[in-house]
Amino acid sequence: MKRVYMDANATTPLLPEVMEAMRPYWMECFGNASSIHLDGQRAHAALERARATMAEFFNCHDAEVVFNSGGTEGDNTAIFGLLHPGDHFITTSIEHSAVLRAADRVAQRGPQLGVATTFVAPQSCGLISPADILRAIRPETRLISVMLANNETGVLQPVEEIGKIAADTGVFFHIDAVQGAGKIKIDTRRFGCHLCSISAHKMHGPKGVGAMFVRRGTPIEPLLVGGSHERRQRAGTENVPGIVGLAKAAELAMHSLEDGTIDRLAKLRDRLEAGVLQISGTGVNGGSAPRAANTTNIWFDQVEGEALVISMDLKGVAVSGGSACHSGATEPSHVLMAMGLDKTRARASLRFSLLKTATEADVDYVLKVVPEAVEHLRAISPVAAGTAG
Ligand code: PLP
Repeated sequence: MKRVYMDANATTPLLPEVMEAMRPYWMECFGNASSIHLDGQRAHAALERARATMAEFFNCHDAEVVFNSGGTEGDNTAIFGLLHPGDHFITTSIEHSAVLRAADRVAQRGPQLGVATTFVAPQSCGLISPADILRAIRPETRLISVMLANNETGVLQPVEEIGKIAADTGVFFHIDAVQGAGKIKIDTRRFGCHLCSISAHKMHGPKGVGAMFVRRGTPIEPLLVGGSHERRQRAGTENVPGIVGLAKAAELAMHSLEDGTIDRLAKLRDRLEAGVLQISGTGVNGGSAPRAANTTNIWFDQVEGEALVISMDLKGVAVSGGSACHSGATEPSHVLMAMGLDKTRARASLRFSLLKTATEADVDYVLKVVPEAVEHLRAISPVAAGTAG
């Protein structure tokens, strides 16, 4: 059976060029980048070449790039590394759990030791208002953390305006750019941030590796201590093959922004969206806001989202739903709920996120499968028949 993967915001496959770039660093050039012999020097040279590529990717200096294990580590480092007891932290209620759970943990250190956090809610279109961020600032505010692109809706946040507010008020600014990387240009200078986290596996690189931009002079405590790797900002022997793969993926991502690939992707996404919206009782979550080119999040009346995900999977299409499993219970998406959707509509929402290698044929196939699946589920739905609330 044909399979179409439309869950790129969960993860992406390696591009062949990325695989090829990594290949020598598993077995031939396996040295420890800290060793002084030739094997070590080769690994070290690869690491520094990758750092130069990432500096171009972030538009920063080489010394401002810190390699790590990915988005979760970057988000945790920003929060645990900058916040002290008594500080105030501003983030949003639509962040990834890597930010939200870290915020919970700094708050839980107790009334005196804790960090008070303000979670700014989005507007119904999914956008965070910079004015709401400004209003939340207090004299003791030390850090603002706002994502670049939301993982569920793709909505792009006004980080540049928030960066200006952070500069004017003397507050540190972290951007979780995990879902923006590869979809829009990551320009840390233009964004005005002090910290910016990205992850390789969301842009056709390997899993478990990422990088963080740390603006020179930002007083961040490392999360991991040990050896003096990464200018003492992140201890642990560098994952050289992974880092080489990250840099290759970043290089390809930069090309894709310029060679029309991302514009083509936006057109494919728009065609998919327009096709799905032909089905009655549907709408786009965050559709009126600027969005990452590959993402659309659509609600379907009288359908249980999870059932639709399974039904589409059985027909060969991978997408994800507007709910997440927490401690065995299915909870509606916190992002969609924060945008004001009720639980039923949040649960009845699906995220389609296209790989940059997606084709017209992929979209055609999905546009064949979705209406059939929706029609079938509505036909057997007690909600549609009006027998259950
Ligand atoms: N931040 C966002 C917005 C994400 O979508 C994700 C992954 O889904 C992460 C952080 C975590 O990244 P990683 O999987 O590299 O830990």
